Amino acid sequence: MAKDALKVYRKRRNLKISPEPYGTVKKRQSKKLLFVIQKHAARALHYDVRLEIDGVLVSWAVPKGPSLNPQIKRLAIRTDDHPMEYAKFEGVIPKGAYGAGTVMVWDIGKYRNIKTDDDGNLIPMHECLKKGTIEVFLEGKKLEGAYALVKTKLGGGDQWLMVKMRDEYANARRNPVNTQKESALTERTMAKISADECERKPRKKVPACQY
Ligand code: MN
Repeated sequence: MAKDALKVYRKRRNLKISPEPYGTVKKRQSKKLLFVIQKHAARALHYDVRLEIDGVLVSWAVPKGPSLNPQIKRLAIRTDDHPMEYAKFEGVIPKGAYGAGTVMVWDIGKYRNIKTDDDGNLIPMHECLKKGTIEVFLEGKKLEGAYALVKTKLGGGDQWLMVKMRDEYANARRNPVNTQKESALTERTMAKISADECERKPRKKVPACQY
């Protein structure tokens, strides 16, 4: 991936006022890659699904969050690639800054690429991304199993659909978005994360803590 893979990320943000990381593009590549899902109470609540691909976190905003039911397709809007350091970012992006609101690490873990061609060979993640068909096996604290992300031809933007693939982890009755609301990293609720930020910093500097 190009050196300026984080150009859009940095351009959109004023990192002098936001506690989000500046970050760097990582070289490390292994079979087990990092994934994170961040719950983000911005203007509209959504879940940011991020997959490590070529040293950055390729990202989608999923308004309703992931489902364990293979019959439910969730809209996933591709957003800017984030630095790897972002995976453990939990806190409050101050009012007036891009993406203002509380961010929680809702789930985190490793993933494997499982998308193969007709001969059974793995298709590299960057190619899957380009083709608009991603299949991954997640090993998170809340989510497990195979998920697909498929680019749609609908809409003008970079719209994808996220869907649980059929496997032993599929479960139409479980809905972790509603039942497992604590951080996978710190076990804090969204309210606790916001409150902690208010305590840590003078109120004037973090107006976000007022909500
Ligand atoms: Mn977001």
